[in-house]
Amino acid sequence: MSDRPTLAELVDPPFADRHVGPRPAELARMLDAIGVGSLDELADRALPPSIRDGADVPTTIPAAASETEMLAELRALAARNTVTVPMIGLGYSGTVTPPVIRRHVLENPAWYTAYTPYQPEISQGRLEALLAFQTMVADLSGLPVAGASLLDEATAAAEAMTLLRRAGRAKSARFVVDADTLPQTLDVLRTRAEPLGIELVVADLDAGLPEGELFGALLSYPGASGRVVDPSALIDAVHERGGLVAVAADLLALTLLTPPGELGADAVVGTTQRFGVPLGFGGPHAGYLSVKQTYARQLPGRLVGVSRDADGNPALRLALQTREQHIRREKATSNICTAQVLLAVVAACYAVYHGAEGLTRIARRTHRMAAILAAGLRASGVDVVHGEFFDTVRVRVADAGAVADKAHDLGISVHRVSDTELGLACSELTTTAHLQALFTAFGIDAVPTDTDDALPADLHRTSEFLTHPTFSEHRSETALMRWLRRLADADLALDRTMIPLGSCTMKLNATAEMEPITWPEFADLHPFAPTADSAGTREMITQLERWLAELTGYAAVSVQPNAGSQGELAGLLAIAAYHRSRGEQRDVCLIPSSAHGTNAASAVMAGMRVVVVATDALGNVDLADLRAKIAAHRDTLAALMITYPSTHGVYETDVREVCAAVHEAGGQVYVDGANLNALVGLARPGAFGGDVSHLNLHKTFCIPHGGGGPGVGPVAVAEHLAEFLPGRGVVGAVSAAPFGSPGVLPIPWAYIRMMGVPGLRRATLTAVAAANYVAVRLREHYPVLYAGADGGVAHECILDLRGITKESGVTVDDVAKRLADYGLHAPTMSFPVAGTLMVEPTESEDLAEIARFVDAMIGIRAEIARVQAGEWPVEDNPLRGAPHTAACLVDKWDHPYSRDLAAYPMAVTPGVHDRKVWPPVRRIDGAHGDRNLVCSCPPIDAYSS
Ligand SMILES: *Cc1c(COP(=O)(O)O)cnc(C)c1O
Repeated sequence: MSDRPTLAELVDPPFADRHVGPRPAELARMLDAIGVGSLDELADRALPPSIRDGADVPTTIPAAASETEMLAELRALAARNTVTVPMIGLGYSGTVTPPVIRRHVLENPAWYTAYTPYQPEISQGRLEALLAFQTMVADLSGLPVAGASLLDEATAAAEAMTLLRRAGRAKSARFVVDADTLPQTLDVLRTRAEPLGIELVVADLDAGLPEGELFGALLSYPGASGRVVDPSALIDAVHERGGLVAVAADLLALTLLTPPGELGADAVVGTTQRFGVPLGFGGPHAGYLSVKQTYARQLPGRLVGVSRDADGNPALRLALQTREQHIRREKATSNICTAQVLLAVVAACYAVYHGAEGLTRIARRTHRMAAILAAGLRASGVDVVHGEFFDTVRVRVADAGAVADKAHDLGISVHRVSDTELGLACSELTTTAHLQALFTAFGIDAVPTDTDDALPADLHRTSEFLTHPTFSEHRSETALMRWLRRLADADLALDRTMIPLGSCTMKLNATAEMEPITWPEFADLHPFAPTADSAGTREMITQLERWLAELTGYAAVSVQPNAGSQGELAGLLAIAAYHRSRGEQRDVCLIPSSAHGTNAASAVMAGMRVVVVATDALGNVDLADLRAKIAAHRDTLAALMITYPSTHGVYETDVREVCAAVHEAGGQVYVDGANLNALVGLARPGAFGGDVSHLNLHKTFCIPHGGGGPGVGPVAVAEHLAEFLPGRGVVGAVSAAPFGSPGVLPIPWAYIRMMGVPGLRRATLTAVAAANYVAVRLREHYPVLYAGADGGVAHECILDLRGITKESGVTVDDVAKRLADYGLHAPTMSFPVAGTLMVEPTESEDLAEIARFVDAMIGIRAEIARVQAGEWPVEDNPLRGAPHTAACLVDKWDHPYSRDLAAYPMAVTPGVHDRKVWPPVRRIDGAHGDRNLVCSCPPIDAYSS
């Protein structure tokens, strides 16, 4: 038995072998095609030597752990958290995620690995769920138009503030805010108001509106203290002075209370967390914003609308796209890109599962618990502050700390408002046993078992809501499970195909990384629970922030920003505060024309003036133009924002020079880190000249895209900017929760822990190899637009279709839709260059899948050639007709190409399981939907055409 392997040889392969797609022989073939012998040689060839330093930089990142070891370590961290019954309130409530929704949505890759629905024909499932979300918000808030989620309640309030300013006619810069607003909302409003020159007036509104002019106001319903007052008189008063009103409202309370829309509000904002979304120590949760019809075109973020497809059938897609930052850039109304789609889907499913009666029952019970609590306390002589409330009881006591500590000993966390005041918030989770424990904490034995309600009599809701059949047809678990399966089957997510989206890094979201997010120790933590209760999560966050700082070459990291866009804002605010701290007046932000739209939008939100820098023929920042712009704005230059590698997918050789030129003029360098998947383990932006970067943990570090969110966009800064990180005293908060969305931070932690630095470096180089392989294979079929000094690309490549379009009439849109017939997801379309496709295969795809994509693109090129040759008319060919539904094939067929070619463009190997995915709708007419805006579930008869 001499060939018997030794025990040491029988170790499991490292996790990196699972994360990385190509097997060694496949990688060898890919490298061979590119013309290099190894990944190291590729690194030498691709990366400018001036920035390379990754391999030998010391870090505290431990050697790679196996999945089992990582999970054990994370379990140990989780065990250091103390989960209590959350009765703190403040915008975060206990809730039950129905197991059917947890398993079939939150833990289901068909939902969590989907991309933002920019290709609507293969995204009808999540679009339908989001339409239900919009309908739910519109119905409950009493305003007709709601978007498909904002990042959290506090940023939603900030978006409402700027919306009211844009939409209204008042010239004033004053915005009045109810003093009884959630503290974190006030914090974010302050951060966002200051750079825009908005004067916030925080006032106790019991005595009416403060004197003077204003452009708008934010009221709370119920207030942070729990009390419910009729906002109508204040709304009228603001309107009389020419201002507009937003109301922050609790959607569960609105099942019982007259909705703000019926009381005259122009906008309603809040969170949908308590609709089944785990607390997660503060997020991710979907915020909401609804508005009057007149303001639909002012709405920030994504809006799902109903339109029709080429056969005239109803179909969904994102509406009014031209108002978004990727089109409007510095004229954008907001910088929101990635939002909270997965969590919005969860909240919508919760409403679909419970329906109007179920939600009303939950609201009534929640309220009754609060009413019993108040009555019992009052009967025993405790001073209950408000007579009318929904779920939160505010009390005055001699020693709030002692009562809070006693309650905590009994397993309940309450809100310690001050030394003499407590807030006690009930929720779906509250039981009579919890009330009993609270009474014990107050030293009370005799308790009531039932009592009258304590809602204002004149605010009883009378209007119906959730009357659409969607909210009554899926109320058994079987029905809901099948609805969810039907929706998921309409979509193409990573569980069925590669999603080669340039700039978006659709890589593996490993199961071991995902599992911990629903562990109760992480999922059920309230963000304002006593510090000691979150010891494990805090330790995890500290480690993650340190690891990210080390990988990027910066001194400090904050995970607070809820998306890349929010990281940009935080980073630019840090730069602005830095200049101010030195007594310098600098407000010009240079941004290359190829930048992501969020860059310019964020700069404007940070109070900066955007000056565009040209890019040269190779896609690099035009150094001559940069120098000219620096010279022209020398005294006012605040920052340069560049993306590295560039949005063109190229490692620019001059990046050090570019950074130095900006520094020399007194500016700071912001390196957009969305493309970090081409750098991790090879080079560090903080070391080659960046002062600030944001990272997209939902791109490079494995947080799934969720169909358009959640995201986490940590901001990383050099030492001199550390004091200006959000929420550290100088610059205010950019998100509602102190750590943003900690509920999903186990994912990047686990990824780094299981990869180790060598594994991360291998992932980066494999991603670069894959992109170069695609470029090499497709170069003779489609021109590859940009290349670096070595003739190669970085981690993505741009296929230029402009010439082909000119010669054939076939557009990028045709190619993208035709890919759906091939069962593939389109690459990024027309960004950063109109008329092109940007392909990013990532390291997770194996060679067979990459080859499937390459073959499809070659097949499509051959189809284009037949159009070019005149065999098929431009208006009637398999590309223009794409995508093809099964229904359109069985109809009468009078096209110059066969049904077979339409549906099965690639030969099907006999005996091999058919990978055909049938798109549920044909090409969607976006303009029709924009002209006839419908943003909530349409009546069923709309579908019987
Ligand atoms: C994705 C991306 C952003 C924005 O990140 P979000 O998380 O979507 O807000 C910014 N810049 C670049 C280059 C990106 O690719």
